[in-house]
Amino acid sequence: MNTTAPSEPRTASSSPGILSTEFRSPAPGYWAGVAESDWNNWRWQLKHRVTTLEQLESLLELTPSERGGVAVAGTKLALAITPHFFNLIERDNPDCPIRRQVIPRWEESLVSPFEMSDPVGEDEHMPVPGLVHRYPDRVLFLLTDRCASYCRYCTRSRVVSGVGEQELRTNFEEIYAYLKEHTEVRDVLLSGGDPLLFSDDKLEGILKRLREIEHIEFVRIGTRVPIFLPQRITPELCAMLKKYHPLWMSVHVNHPKELTIEVRDALGRLADAGIPLGNQSVLLRGVNDDLPTMKALVQKLLRCRVRPYYIYQLDLIKGSSHLQASVRKGVEIIEGLRGHTTGYAVPQFVIDAPGGGGKVPVNPNYILHHDRERVVLRNYEGRVFEYPEPKDYPNGKTASPAPPAEALTDVIRDY
Ligand code: SF4
Repeated sequence: MNTTAPSEPRTASSSPGILSTEFRSPAPGYWAGVAESDWNNWRWQLKHRVTTLEQLESLLELTPSERGGVAVAGTKLALAITPHFFNLIERDNPDCPIRRQVIPRWEESLVSPFEMSDPVGEDEHMPVPGLVHRYPDRVLFLLTDRCASYCRYCTRSRVVSGVGEQELRTNFEEIYAYLKEHTEVRDVLLSGGDPLLFSDDKLEGILKRLREIEHIEFVRIGTRVPIFLPQRITPELCAMLKKYHPLWMSVHVNHPKELTIEVRDALGRLADAGIPLGNQSVLLRGVNDDLPTMKALVQKLLRCRVRPYYIYQLDLIKGSSHLQASVRKGVEIIEGLRGHTTGYAVPQFVIDAPGGGGKVPVNPNYILHHDRERVVLRNYEGRVFEYPEPKDYPNGKTASPAPPAEALTDVIRDY
């Protein structure tokens, strides 16, 4: 490993600030001298991940909090960062938004009230090891506990990386049998860990078995591999995936800087294979909890042919409070996007209800009043409008009874 200062990244832009919306390549960065064929090989990237305190200290000056964090990572959620993703870290900025996502801090060992090992109650809805069946018509199939790099806020850190509290013991044959029997399941989400860490053959074997089950209409893959390890998105992988349509994919990007030239091209290969792409971000303190960052991210995602799908409020995972932003901030961000940028760029902000309640959408309130006769709305500029309800519409029940006229006047005056 080269431990000298990273070489300058390639960019098409003359303004390479942190919020630059240009696509940049961080390569070769700290790994100058590595053959291009090795760099572009996903197995080389995995083999050369940064996984130890010694490696980290040879590349960056760590803060005391990070040094302490690495010491506890081995019993909680392993440390691993691909060279590709590591190169995005700003060397002299301990608050770098990329660094906050993947380098442990000692705050991870603090457990706040309400934090849990299984914050969204997956284990309670696991009829077969490795299969979560929480919603009526869809299931979550946990293929593996391994990822290309590990996110310090991972909801499944109790099993992911193999060093936490639990072991993932997915029983593939039992899962196929369960799915055959449960004809109400029409949608299977493959996740983990990261399904795209499997070899093409192994993944194809799973997709084939799922496709043999007639009532399964739709398969999705949840993955952060295109971001952590874009080299994995080979033409061969795309050609294989293409055989199993309808196949959709949810990727996970939190900051515009993660959308490098390599990532944009990898996402382009997936889109060319006909795979609809959506993005799920997690709202993280000091990473993306501000409107300019989120706006740059969602607009850049559209240029990568990815539809911003969800922004998640951080699940109440043990040791994550230093990364938690407020729900109010999430609502404020949506408010600042809706109407102010392309509708396709506006994701849904959700809270995965603690204990297994499922995803609950959280929105700014645009309805000021609603009764049998009308709905009073405000638009993105705060201007107030009235829309009449049809008088002859059957079952025309409204959400709330009409308030006294003077109360409505007060509401309208507020805007
Ligand atoms: S990629 Fe997903 S599963 Fe893996 S550590 Fe990150 S959040 Fe967890």
